[in-house]
Amino acid sequence: MDIVESVRKIPLQDPPEEDFCAADLTWTKFGNAEHHDEVALIPYDRVDDFIIGECSNVEWPTRFHIERGRKRAIGSLKEYKDDEYLEYRLYWCSFGPENYGEGGGILPSRRYRLNTRNRAARPQSMRGCTCHFVVKRLYARPYLALIIYNERRHINKSGFVCHGPLDRDAIGPGAKNVPYICNEIQQQTMSMIYLGIPEENILEKHIEGIQRYCGSDAKVNSLASQYVHKLGMIIKRSTHELDLDDQASIRMWVERNKKSVFFYQDTSESDPFVLGIQTEWQLQQMIRFGHCSVVVADSTFGIKRLKYPLFTLLVFDSRQHALPVAWVITRSFSKPDMSKWLNALIDRAHSVEPGWRVSGFVIDDAAAEIDLLRDIFCCPVLFSLWRIRRSWLRNIVKKCCNIEVQREIFKRLGAIVYSIWGGVNTSLALEQFLQDFVDQTDFMEYFRASWLPKIEMWLSTMRNFPLASQEASGALEAYHVKLKAKLFDDSHLGALQRVDWLVHKLTTELHSSYWLDRFADESDSFQSVKEEYIASTSWHRALRIPNNAVTFNDKDRFFAKVVSQKESKSTRIVWNPGSEFAFCDCAWSMQGNLCKHVIKVNMVFENIKGCQPSMSLKSFEDILIDLWRKPVDGSIALDLSLAWTQQILDQIEKLVELNNSPDIGTVVNKMPLNWVSKKGRTYTGKPTLRYTLPPANSNPKSLIVYKRSRKRKRLSQLR
Ligand SMILES: [Zn+2]
Ligand SMILES: [Zn+2]
Repeated sequence: MDIVESVRKIPLQDPPEEDFCAADLTWTKFGNAEHHDEVALIPYDRVDDFIIGECSNVEWPTRFHIERGRKRAIGSLKEYKDDEYLEYRLYWCSFGPENYGEGGGILPSRRYRLNTRNRAARPQSMRGCTCHFVVKRLYARPYLALIIYNERRHINKSGFVCHGPLDRDAIGPGAKNVPYICNEIQQQTMSMIYLGIPEENILEKHIEGIQRYCGSDAKVNSLASQYVHKLGMIIKRSTHELDLDDQASIRMWVERNKKSVFFYQDTSESDPFVLGIQTEWQLQQMIRFGHCSVVVADSTFGIKRLKYPLFTLLVFDSRQHALPVAWVITRSFSKPDMSKWLNALIDRAHSVEPGWRVSGFVIDDAAAEIDLLRDIFCCPVLFSLWRIRRSWLRNIVKKCCNIEVQREIFKRLGAIVYSIWGGVNTSLALEQFLQDFVDQTDFMEYFRASWLPKIEMWLSTMRNFPLASQEASGALEAYHVKLKAKLFDDSHLGALQRVDWLVHKLTTELHSSYWLDRFADESDSFQSVKEEYIASTSWHRALRIPNNAVTFNDKDRFFAKVVSQKESKSTRIVWNPGSEFAFCDCAWSMQGNLCKHVIKVNMVFENIKGCQPSMSLKSFEDILIDLWRKPVDGSIALDLSLAWTQQILDQIEKLVELNNSPDIGTVVNKMPLNWVSKKGRTYTGKPTLRYTLPPANSNPKSLIVYKRSRKRKRLSQLR
């Protein structure tokens, strides 16, 4: 391509992407035959987007700092060339320019740091990276910026890739003098700080993490200690209140955390406030655990206490614990608003994994927009009883003082719910119930006000939709309880009405706690965190109770006894066994929770012949009977039905096998650990060119191929 001699002849480019990088631009040769640079002209207000794009390079995640900068006042020049600058900034990859590794010098103090929204680890050491570019704000046209790319490759003076996943020395036992803080260690350290773990312990784990890559070294340890201390100070000083005004504060948070926001609609005359939060880690978990599995909604949390209620989308992780993968803060659950953010969420998942799809969506509120969910997720909707069970049990315990009355009321309500299977006239049963407990005035007042007007809607939802399991109920409740403990502890009562506080709490403490749980389990480290995490649902706690600890009273099986594992003298009594509405007298159950005793008793009960199955099992049976009763004659329709049914059976068999496989931590640990074999770094010979960006002005076809391969790389990182 020809060399352009005037800035006026360089085309202006304004890529549509939010953030863009060098590969998204067409580069022009600018100068003369003896000396020319590769340049591109963009609007000045897009410079930050370009820098963020360059920082987020998959192969070389980095930051750029301003190595040199100059400025002129407007009007200070009488005569000037058309490429004269108003502002001149030389941006350098922060893994350079100094070389702090083998044979490297000492790092001079930096005057400028560019604070981008990029999440890549801030480089901990100089690797002599030579990648750099200049941004010139044009004197003649200050609304334009000329980018001059001097070196696009992240290589050192010897021409070797010197950082990022492609740098062979960044990982593995050889990288002694380069404490490369990978994202995982950084996230681990941040999580521990947020969870309030003492600094010595954090440092110990941090150094352990680094030593997996670097080996032990006094200098490495002292750098690590400084790093952990600094990070702790930064986190301690960080506050949710970015502005005194909550709305302005949220706007700033959204601006600074664009990568964690999948939908934002500020309050206006026509639109209500909606903020959809999903970090990149949550997106990965949603794609990983939600694909071909179920996604669950925990709706309207904190409707009375928070400024706006919180809606959470969860998936079941490898232990079938509920993992929050998106938070939506809003008061509006109108169809148009919901469809906007749901579509944004699905689009986000599809932009990373186009084939991502969900097999089922579980709701906990009969008033949910079921049609909308079914259309958007393209899957059946299931209903979970956990919320209704919890509300009833809590209010029974609170409003009736006699335990026998409590048991009986709960049992009768359970019977009304079970009546959806037919045989009982629901309205008659309800009337009888209201009469029989008319003396329980407090509870009846609550029941008449909160449930009676809409009980038919709830029952018909249960009748018409498949019902989710007790394990799902236990997992959802565990999330709910954790959320309550984190948000409603007494120290922040004044902050509950601020949205910025809620956002801060979710994205720091709660997010960190889930991140660390998963990390501890998958890497089989942090044993106490791991154990606590495994035991965090009543289902898992129930699995630890041996079968012989459960006994039933007699042939009627009105109640069961569970012998305590800690003190064999104490026993718990579970009334109405075999039902989701079984009532236990332990303290956990008395707070309205689904306790391990109820779950254990029901597990044992299900294996006794002739006993009623749980609601979800009954609902499963119903579907199977429906399938069986579908009239199919001896035609090809029968062949097809047979093939489909066989397919489903195969899939379910695989699922059962997977569920019975042991601890995932040990599975992961059994995998062989492979370091890339290191042949030693040589400083002679041809520099590597394999990983360079496509050449300037490359034809659009090769650009597309490049982009695709980049996307594939991104995908393979997720898996
Ligand atoms: Zn670099
Ligand atoms: Zn119990």
